[in-house]
Order: sequence, then C-alpha cells, then structure tokens
Amino acid sequence: MAQKVTPRSKDYSRWYTDVIQKAELADYSPVKGCMVIRPYGYALWENIQQGLDRRFKATGHVNAYFPLFIPESFIKKEAEHVEGFSPELAVVTHGGGKRLDEPLIVRPTSETIINAMYAKWVRSWRDLPILINQWCNVVRWEMRTRLFLRTTEFLWQEGHTAHATPEEAEEEARRMLDVYSDFAENDAAIPVIKGRKSDAERFAGAVRSYAIEAMMGDKRALQSGTSHNLGDNFARAFGTQYLDRNNELRYVHQTSWGLSTRMVGAIIMVHGDDQGLILPPKLAPYQVVIVPIWHDEGEKAQVLATIETITGEFGEAVRCKVDDREEYSPGWKFNDWEMRGVPLRIEIGPKDVAKGQVVLARRDVAGREGKSSAPMEGLLGRVQEMLDEIQANLFAQALKFREDNTSEPTDYEEFKVVVENGFARSYWCGSAECEATIKDETKATIRCVPFDQDGEEGNCIYCGHEATEKAIFARAY
Ligand SMILES: [Zn+2]
Repeated sequence: MAQKVTPRSKDYSRWYTDVIQKAELADYSPVKGCMVIRPYGYALWENIQQGLDRRFKATGHVNAYFPLFIPESFIKKEAEHVEGFSPELAVVTHGGGKRLDEPLIVRPTSETIINAMYAKWVRSWRDLPILINQWCNVVRWEMRTRLFLRTTEFLWQEGHTAHATPEEAEEEARRMLDVYSDFAENDAAIPVIKGRKSDAERFAGAVRSYAIEAMMGDKRALQSGTSHNLGDNFARAFGTQYLDRNNELRYVHQTSWGLSTRMVGAIIMVHGDDQGLILPPKLAPYQVVIVPIWHDEGEKAQVLATIETITGEFGEAVRCKVDDREEYSPGWKFNDWEMRGVPLRIEIGPKDVAKGQVVLARRDVAGREGKSSAPMEGLLGRVQEMLDEIQANLFAQALKFREDNTSEPTDYEEFKVVVENGFARSYWCGSAECEATIKDETKATIRCVPFDQDGEEGNCIYCGHEATEKAIFARAY
C-alpha cells in the first residue's frame, strides 16, 4: 500500500504535518523547536532561492555574509528593536570553556551588526546606495513551533540597504515588496495582497513595514514576505553617516526585507489537496515523473529505451525523474508521486511504445479529466505547454478561493462571523484601540492596509468613526 496522508478536508492541521513528513520535506529534530529540512524540501527551497536571487540581482543587489553572533550591546542600541526581540533571543555566555566578557546573541535578524559595518564603510554620498542581501539562518526562541511556519531556527534572506534620502529608502522598500509579490504570484502561484502593516504589527525599529499576505487553504492568512522602511533609526543608533554633496554630515536612510522558509509552508497550504502536495511547476524539484510499465523483460527493454530517447530530448529543459524501481508497482508509484506533488506524470507501456505515444496525467486535475495522450513526436513542447497550463491553473484556483472567501461585512456582528472563516475587508479608523479590541474579541488581526483602495470614505467597522482606508482582517498563522 502506498503511503496515505490524512485528508485535508478531514483535519487540516494533521494533513499539513502528514504531507511534510510523508513527502519527506522535513522532519522534527532532536533539538526542540528546530527542524531538519530533508533533500526534497531543500530542493524546493533552492528553487525558491534561485527565483528570488535572480530578481534581487536584476534590481541591482549583491550578496554578502555577516557573522552569526552579535555582541549584546549592539542589540541594545536601538530601543524599539531590543524591546521587540528580547523575549526570543538565544544568548551565548561561554566560549572555549570560558565565560565571555560580553555575551553574544545568536542573530534573530541582522540590522544591528550590519549597521556596525555600514557605519565604517559609508563615508560620502559616493558610497551610496549600498544594496546588500544575505542568505542565512536566524534564531528566534519560539515556544510553540510548527514545521516551516514557526521554528526556532529558520532559513531566509535578509536584504539591508542604505540610501542618501528618505525618498530613496521608501522607494526601495516598495520595490522589494513588488519583487516578493512578483515571485509569489509568478513562481509560487500564490496570489498576494500588498499593503502596509499597522503600527501594532510593524517591525521593531522600522518607520513603516509592508507585507504580502496570502490566504491559506483553511482560509487563514500567512504573512509571506516583509519589507521595512527603517528611516534613520538604526543609522542614529550606530552613527551611520555620510558627507553629502555640500559637505554636510547626514544620516543614511535604510531598508530591510526578508522572505523565509515559511514560503514552503505557504506553497503546501495554498495548493495541496486530500491526496497531498501539489507543487507549482516553476518551483517543483521534479516537474515531471516518468513511470514505465512493463510485464516481461522484452517489454522492459523496449519501454526503457523509449524513455531514454525522451529524457535525451528533454535535456535540461525539464526537471525530470524516471522512476524505474523494480520493487514497486506502477499504481503504487502513481499514488506516491501524487502525494509528493509532482505536477505532471508521464506513463509509458508497451502499447504506447507501439503507437508512438505516451499518457500524460496532470496533478492539478483529478481523475480521468486530468489524463490525456500525446504523440512522442514534439513531446517536449507539449510537456512545457502543459506545465505552463498547470502553473496558471494553480494561480487561478488560489485566486478564486481567496476571492470566494473574502467579504465586506456591513456591521461588526457580520464581521465576527466573516473572520471565523475568511478575510474581511473593512474600514478601519486607524486607532490601535479598535485594532486591539477586535483582536481580543475575534482573534482576527489587521493583516495589512492594502495599497489598492477604492478612494472612498466610510465608517470604522468597530467604532463607527470616519475612516479613509479599508484593512484586511483575518486570523493568521
Ligand atoms: Zn475605530
């Protein structure tokens, strides 16, 4: 029997963990709160990295690396920052068998240590802008953890830039949010809402935080990437100054932005179904799996020779896996690769070889409807076309799901019902008190104030006061 996951429709949370473990994306580790990313999950992460890294470089950024350890005094320099991060810091007090003169923090994020360096590197306006990204791990001591979504140690990238003017920093923060949204929608096939975070949800030390928010398959929200305009807060704390064109000393204006292995959790939760994972073709470690079917040695030789011709033609154009294991039946393999979310399956048996064709089975369309045959001739073109169709269909399905589950309630009573099972798009007066009360009473938080507003005025969904903007309210991961 092939491995089965708990159906998503039955128990979403169990399904999520089942998929991760049975598809061998990740596993629990002997260290509480940490996870082991297994090769299949890491291959998915590598494709995420490549999709992002390409976009970072196309927008003028370069990669560098800063230390894992941050002197404790650095973290304390920016008041809001230390307050925000203190509860979740891991602190090293001993090294080489001796007590350290100054404890070292295992980085929760790197604004402080990077500023210590930028303060040395920046002298004049000619040194700006600095556009650096780093790929690394960070540690935030979490009490309640969940594979990929919240773990004590996780992988991410953090961009840190320094600019001459506030306008340039604002432009950069918005540009990188666009980069994230382009990646999420085009590569991960996840529709996102771009917007501003409320002050309560703002990054500790930022002037303004922006985020992309996505709806998961259980109608809860997941913040999938953030970009912050840090103003000159860190520059003031670290003395990161430059001489402008008039030889006057000024503070730099900065941004930071991050996207983490949470994105893997988002991909699982947005696209998966009762059978398991469904991976978007652009990020799938294997875009195509080929399953040969034979009954005797003669057929086997014939089928495998045909497959060799096909994979030869595919070359590097398609990420393809041939599952020619003898110890499993074709039916077992079909189920197994379906559970692992491979977007497209090619079946080839002796009859297909004789007819010069193959059977294609789409992962995103269940049963017979997802099956078709295609001539061997020109197969690569047909496969690429179909992968594009799957990619587009996954995005369209996710968008429809989000739209079907987003409402604009007319009053607070209706609002309470809506946020139990979806997103509410409602006027908010901007008061932190309304926001906090709504959170207490409904567990829904302001995910973001979308950039996309209709320009009309209305009344705050909670207090009824005048409001100029609508916010997205939802229960979130
Ligand atoms: Zn209000």
